[in-house]
Amino acid sequence: MKVRYSYLQQQFADPEPIFKKIRQLLKNGSFTLGEDVKEFEKSFAALIGTKWAVGVGSGTDAIILALKAIGVSHDDEVITAANTFIATAGAINAVGAKPVFVDVTSYFTINPDQIERKITKKTKAIIPVHLTGEPCDMTPIMRIAEHHGIPVIEDACQAIGAAIDGKNVGTFGVAGCFSLHPLKNLNVWGDGGIIVTNNNEVSERLRLLRNHGLKNRDEIEILGYNSRLDSLQAIVGQWLINQVGEITIKRIANAATYSCALQNLQGEIFLPPRRPNAKRVFHLYQFEVKQRDMLYKYLNDSGIEAKIHYPISLHLQKPFREMGYREGDFPEAEKQARHVLSLPVDQYLSKEEILYVVQTIEKFCSKLKVAV
Ligand SMILES: *Cc1c(COP(=O)(O)O)cnc(C)c1O
Repeated sequence: MKVRYSYLQQQFADPEPIFKKIRQLLKNGSFTLGEDVKEFEKSFAALIGTKWAVGVGSGTDAIILALKAIGVSHDDEVITAANTFIATAGAINAVGAKPVFVDVTSYFTINPDQIERKITKKTKAIIPVHLTGEPCDMTPIMRIAEHHGIPVIEDACQAIGAAIDGKNVGTFGVAGCFSLHPLKNLNVWGDGGIIVTNNNEVSERLRLLRNHGLKNRDEIEILGYNSRLDSLQAIVGQWLINQVGEITIKRIANAATYSCALQNLQGEIFLPPRRPNAKRVFHLYQFEVKQRDMLYKYLNDSGIEAKIHYPISLHLQKPFREMGYREGDFPEAEKQARHVLSLPVDQYLSKEEILYVVQTIEKFCSKLKVAV
């Protein structure tokens, strides 16, 4: 049996409803910032529960523009998690600021206890990353940020629909950034991103920043960029947005099946702890395993596309080593880089496929026992 990681072919197997709207787009010619983008932004804000949503070119641009909108620039410092995807740190660097990493917890998210000691006079923002679809521990993070008067921008690129006590991620900080990349839970046909906020001023600045700072056709208000969400992508997003609830439910159910089976393999496999008030949306189903490289190979040899997110902790990548980061700086993130493994968990997996994955892992673990 083969268990593939990418499910895009299944997701867009019947593109007719999307094509129908694209044909209309060809007639009205409103390829950028038209009604389709407005409609999608409205739906997205309603889904997350914010006043505003602003469509931009990618999840990375969402973070860049959010940082710009709150005035982060050269020589500032921005605190984020040491295990995040490169885009978070790249966005911080792109506005001229320095990424300041903080170690993570066994939930794979930033450790709130270690944030405060990294705050300096130069700290202008904190970016918690809801990695894998697991909400960060936002209560202490917001308490620290408010105490020091530092704005929080959430990197929710992997976490659409995740929540704490029923409050969606993306709504805790001044802005929440989402990616619409083909590998994310709400995915379009290329790059796309969207920022949510309840702050009118931030929303207005984001709208200017994404469109050259143009107030109207002729007048420039501030210096901006070109980072607009294409109407075409907004059409795809609008078609999918009604399915996000269903997608999330299926991912959670798949994850529950895995967790139920894998918890019997304690000693070999370590599942991240659960918090009853946190809704996780499983962009990734990730856990730690002692013999990670062996299991990774065993699964892939058995036709199961397991992945590693990510084998090298971010601070140990070349550009960050050059900034002075070293091995031993973030022991938890480094340990996770050696031990994490991700299984396919998407909404199109069949019961048989999940069972096959579980049985293959069980077989692997029983072989290890025999070997000992
Ligand atoms: C995907 C991702 C991004 C960037 O999104 P793009 O749309 O690919 O630019 C940022 N942060 C995290 C955590 C991501 O997973």
